Amino acid sequence: MILRIITPPLSANAYVLRSEKIAVIDPGGDADFILNALKNQGIKNVNAVLLTHLHYDHAVAANAIAETFGAPLLVHRDEYEFSRKFWYNGLYASVSNPQFVVDGEVIKIGDYKLKVMHTPGHTPGSVCFYEARKGLLFSGDTVFPNGSIGRTDLPGGTYAQLHNSLKKLSGLTVKRLYPGHGAPVENGNWHIRMALSFF
Ligand SMILES: [Zn+2]
Ligand SMILES: [Zn+2]
Repeated sequence: MILRIITPPLSANAYVLRSEKIAVIDPGGDADFILNALKNQGIKNVNAVLLTHLHYDHAVAANAIAETFGAPLLVHRDEYEFSRKFWYNGLYASVSNPQFVVDGEVIKIGDYKLKVMHTPGHTPGSVCFYEARKGLLFSGDTVFPNGSIGRTDLPGGTYAQLHNSLKKLSGLTVKRLYPGHGAPVENGNWHIRMALSFF
């Protein structure tokens, strides 16, 4: 079961993947809010915190969840290293003791096998998480429904890289797209193709 929790302050989506193990993808920008939301859902344990990128609206709550539940915090090394240079202006969240994920790695959490797709462009270490068997893509701020793409005008953003990343994603079979903002949609491939058509 996948639960979507819309988090303050910028309505970033936190996704809770519930099976015998529990993963939270992008806990959002407010620790108290997400901890309460998890409690209200009867969630007493979190086995892993996965981060599509470290922008504050997606990742400020990551440390609190990792500490509360003793869960590992997973992020791409490029993202972490870049964030160390830019955390001071508040754009990037500061995370403690992350574990680094690499492109192509598969993270198994209960019923979900999430393949890490390194998709730089919005940020240097943005990743998407792809569940091949179920056809699910958690796309962070890389791609949104109806052809929208992530901003590339912030520090670390690169338009050409985002283009390449979308080409990479367009090779996947995506039945359902779970973006970092806005509602999830069916037929993810169509939405990704739309985004590519604007380049
Ligand atoms: Zn972002
Ligand atoms: Zn965002």
